[in-house]
Amino acid sequence: MSLEHTRAYRAAYLTYLRTGLPIELSLKHARQTPQYVWETRGDAKVRLSHRRNEGKIFRWDTPPPTGHPGQDYNCRCLALPFEEGKTEYAYLVDLDSLASTGRRWTDLDFVEHFYRGGGRPVTLSEIGQFAEIVQEYAYFSGGDGAYHRLKGQIADWARELKTPIYHFGDKYSFKNVAYSHGYATVKGDFLGSVVSKGDMIKIDGICSFSFHDVFTDPTSLRQNLTGTSSRSERLPSMLESLSELGGEAYEVVGYWQAQFHALVLKDKYKSAYHVRKKH
Ligand SMILES: [Zn+2]
Repeated sequence: MSLEHTRAYRAAYLTYLRTGLPIELSLKHARQTPQYVWETRGDAKVRLSHRRNEGKIFRWDTPPPTGHPGQDYNCRCLALPFEEGKTEYAYLVDLDSLASTGRRWTDLDFVEHFYRGGGRPVTLSEIGQFAEIVQEYAYFSGGDGAYHRLKGQIADWARELKTPIYHFGDKYSFKNVAYSHGYATVKGDFLGSVVSKGDMIKIDGICSFSFHDVFTDPTSLRQNLTGTSSRSERLPSMLESLSELGGEAYEVVGYWQAQFHALVLKDKYKSAYHVRKKH
């Protein structure tokens, strides 16, 4: 049934590409269930708003702000018919607003705090990059994003249940947000309930995340800033005068939580949610 629907969707999408006939119309007969699970291709090309929809349940009569899968230009996402207790899903919803309290730091602000901050730690919210850092980690790290991978990791953990809490953590590049970050650590854990339901497992709980970075040596940053800022005469001299102050390393930290909800097949080889071994 889900295969039929997928075929119908692809057919409707191809029809749309060829003739411009709205997918809405050609899909009418294919909408076998009132709800569907949003499926992405899980690769680096999926747009951010569709990454956020991945694994979530939507209603055909209440489209999300993005529209339904395949409706937006060049979208390759699919709608899997949703049957309660039978269809797999897995999604994370951030519990914190991720709003920042401070103005967004530039690389020069990182350097300035090194020389003037006396080693005082700063939070992602304080440096105005909370939402950006979480977004980079959750939806872009490793190409597919950590939230995408966590779904499979937590599902595999729930299948084995060798430990009461699932711990995770790794180093990620955050240079896309600010050169100053370089590589930083994000680690955390999942704590929640795991309930067996026939050939499925229901998983519900909270993921807690902690971001940790140490700003130590502005030398490489200085080269980056001065090397690429030929227009600014001010910058090198400002860095010179700042460096006379000595400088002290400081931590950049951030904490947030997300709800995790999933229903996955016990048989990981039949499931869309498991960690695929790399060869
Ligand atoms: Zn899409």
